[in-house]
Amino acid sequence: MNILVINAGSSSLKYQLLDPDSQKVLAKGLCERIGIDGKFTYKAPGKETVDAVDVAMPSHAEAIQAVLDALVDGKNGVIGSMKEIDAVGHRVVHGGEKFAKSVRITGEVMAAIEECNPLAPLHNPANIIGIKACQALMPDTPMVAVFDTAFHQTMSPVAYTYALPYEYYQNDKVRRYGFHGTSHKYVAGRAAAMLGRPIEELKLISCHLGNGSSITAIDGGKSVDTSMGFTPLAGVPMGTRSGDLDAGILEYLMNKHGMDIKEMLNVLNKKSGVQGISGVSSDFRDLDNAAEQGSERAALALQAFEYSVKKYIGAYAAAMGGVDAVIFTAGVGENSKDTRAKIVSGLEYMGIKIDAEKNNFRGEERDISADGASVRTLVIPTNEELMIAMDTAAIARG
Ligand code: AMP
Repeated sequence: MNILVINAGSSSLKYQLLDPDSQKVLAKGLCERIGIDGKFTYKAPGKETVDAVDVAMPSHAEAIQAVLDALVDGKNGVIGSMKEIDAVGHRVVHGGEKFAKSVRITGEVMAAIEECNPLAPLHNPANIIGIKACQALMPDTPMVAVFDTAFHQTMSPVAYTYALPYEYYQNDKVRRYGFHGTSHKYVAGRAAAMLGRPIEELKLISCHLGNGSSITAIDGGKSVDTSMGFTPLAGVPMGTRSGDLDAGILEYLMNKHGMDIKEMLNVLNKKSGVQGISGVSSDFRDLDNAAEQGSERAALALQAFEYSVKKYIGAYAAAMGGVDAVIFTAGVGENSKDTRAKIVSGLEYMGIKIDAEKNNFRGEERDISADGASVRTLVIPTNEELMIAMDTAAIARG
């Protein structure tokens, strides 16, 4: 089965054509600068790579058309015609409380996704544009929406309710939603396979550590708590996002520096996190280098990040009454052995201990636990596209 996975942003669109059964990626790439000029990238095994070439993309429609043209291209294409695309899976950031799982896209579903727009004003409208552009070009192909928030809909009110006047939940839908759900769900499934145990028996703590980071407590295969909140701004410090902070700081800084709420949020989203602390970079590789060369603030940024992740591991073990495995995934979790080692150091009393030799690698699926550790520590490269394709295939097959 060939599934086209689309991840549409406001000016970019990532795509992958893959077969979820064989897990083979037939082609993948990226459309950038949509609405500005248009750059197109296409990669397929054994074919010529197209790297950031100019293709006019006044809107997402032209971007999707470029993707389809490349996929069926006589020389570099990987399929004979568009009919060989069995279904399209769309990443949608916010499904609110309406969507607890992936769904086939109908008119009613589109309306419900649009209703979630106020909850993710930067992301959902772009996802919707991507869906509409695809529907126009492939009207007979089944389309499925896969939500970043859906996996976390199993959280109990105890975990998702903020201590605000209750009307803000009832009337305004203010609650913890959580994000990165597709990634957390994927690595949880892989963890169960690696451990050779049914997921229903396992208590897992999944650490998705990348430019955006979130930690999730997964009990019996269900998300029971997660560090991101109403928006992806909450939780651990991230590349440029602050993570959790005292809301009283906002008033203090806004008054002191004459900032309005838009400027304040720009600081919290774009100028904070490890970038804010270090003043060096939001990129963890840059921070590693700067810290090695003696930057105290880069070192502090890394330590604050590691400390925060460690605290969430402790909190979620307490929330679940134990933990069987800690999972590291995403750019930093998969690749940075030092970050992994520092996060778990000091957690030996909980049974979490890694083996320095086993930890000395990057970007593969491995168990890095020390012999005798009662809690396993796993590194699992995330694969959101595969998860989206698997959900899409299951729904398209009915
Ligand atoms: P993501 O958002 O999942 O793509 O992750 C991006 C982050 O992963 C960036 O901050 C990168 O610096 C970081 N990253 C990628 N490779 C490494 C590495 N080898 N060591 C440390 N951080 C890395």
